[in-house]
Amino acid sequence: MKYNHILIRYAELALKGKNRKEFEKKLQDNLKFALYSFPESKVQRTFGRMFIELNGEEENRVSERLKDVFGIHSFSPSLKIDLNQDDINEAALWAVRDALPNESGTFKVTAKRPNKAYPIRSQQLNYDIGSHILRNTSGLTVDVHNPDVEVKVEVRQEAAYIMCKTIKGAGGLPIRTAGKVLLMLSGGIDSPVAGYFALKRGVELEAIHFHSPPFTNERAKQKVIDLSRVLTKFGGSMKLHIIPFTDAQQAIHQKVPDKYEMTIMRRFMLRIAEAAAKKNGAIGIVNGESLGQVASQTLDSMYTINEVTNMPIIRPLVTMDKLDVIKVAKDIGTYDLSILPYEDCCTIFLPPQTKTKPNREKANLYEKELNIELYVQDAIERMETIKITPNSEVDKEFEDLF
Ligand code: ATP
Ligand code: MG
Repeated sequence: MKYNHILIRYAELALKGKNRKEFEKKLQDNLKFALYSFPESKVQRTFGRMFIELNGEEENRVSERLKDVFGIHSFSPSLKIDLNQDDINEAALWAVRDALPNESGTFKVTAKRPNKAYPIRSQQLNYDIGSHILRNTSGLTVDVHNPDVEVKVEVRQEAAYIMCKTIKGAGGLPIRTAGKVLLMLSGGIDSPVAGYFALKRGVELEAIHFHSPPFTNERAKQKVIDLSRVLTKFGGSMKLHIIPFTDAQQAIHQKVPDKYEMTIMRRFMLRIAEAAAKKNGAIGIVNGESLGQVASQTLDSMYTINEVTNMPIIRPLVTMDKLDVIKVAKDIGTYDLSILPYEDCCTIFLPPQTKTKPNREKANLYEKELNIELYVQDAIERMETIKITPNSEVDKEFEDLF
């Protein structure tokens, strides 16, 4: 015997009416996409439930994949069995043995019978199935209060479902239900993690990266492409916009006093990000800033830099400690890429001293020396857009889906 289905549970309480329908539809699409490398699997939606029909695909591998799909509260591998009591008993026995392979420990059976036409009531089902398990195993006992394994049996119209395991899902909301945002993606540790957290709240993500050739090289660009590809594991295919930033940076370097260079450069980046967001239908910007982490991320800096846009800026890491961010980076698989030592555009030209308390008046004053509009326009005109897919071969096949 083998698990032939996976039951998906989502946090439906948070959802009502029309939203819920859209949420479910999106989750179904997202699941189809996430399972593209399991071509036999099918995602089914019936009566407020979602199932993966495995059709021979490996349950363990599919379960691993499901852990990265946002909007899933938990899931359970399950056996779909015809409505025949002997078969149900056998399936329950198999499932309990699968969960407790040494046949030692405790279990209980919890049967539900939404299909009232089925002749055996749930109490009796608990008893019959439990007895069958006890008769056919050596070291198992029943514990109704705190069992090692709960054998859940659901007798429905079309079949019975038997499950023993509940696996925690990624939580959050299905991607592409919350609107589109633009992630400012550097090659560092923080911004990919920020992108991950934004995806977790259901956004559709695109990324923007500033580079300054010839001061930053192709490998730095490739690193950002690779980081984006890791994010597609959670967010599906995405666009990455690469902005040539050398001219603006050089102008800032020449015209702005040392201590304000970083602040003005950030203001430029934000203006360009806003323009790129608008051009691509995004209505928010995500970055990897964390309060007080470095000079450009003090509250004063944020206040002064933030002046140039009134788009929402989402800072998922704003209150996080670096060590916690690093832990997430390792978990999601971006850390090893992030620590590759290629130059980021932000670090070139920059003087050693940056003001930790820049103010808006001075920032505006120094910017008078620069033709801001021109640089923003030019950056957008020369923006290069790359489509990043989890695996370039499936690019075409899934283009329609997203
Ligand atoms: P990260 O690890 O994400 O680079 P950081 O702690 O090094 O963050 P900064 O370099 O000060 O911090 O950058 C702060 C944020 O600004 C980044 O998290 C990112 O969102 C954005 N950013 C910095 N450099 C770039 C870049 N070259 N292209 C796009 N966004 C950038
Ligand atoms: Mg950085």
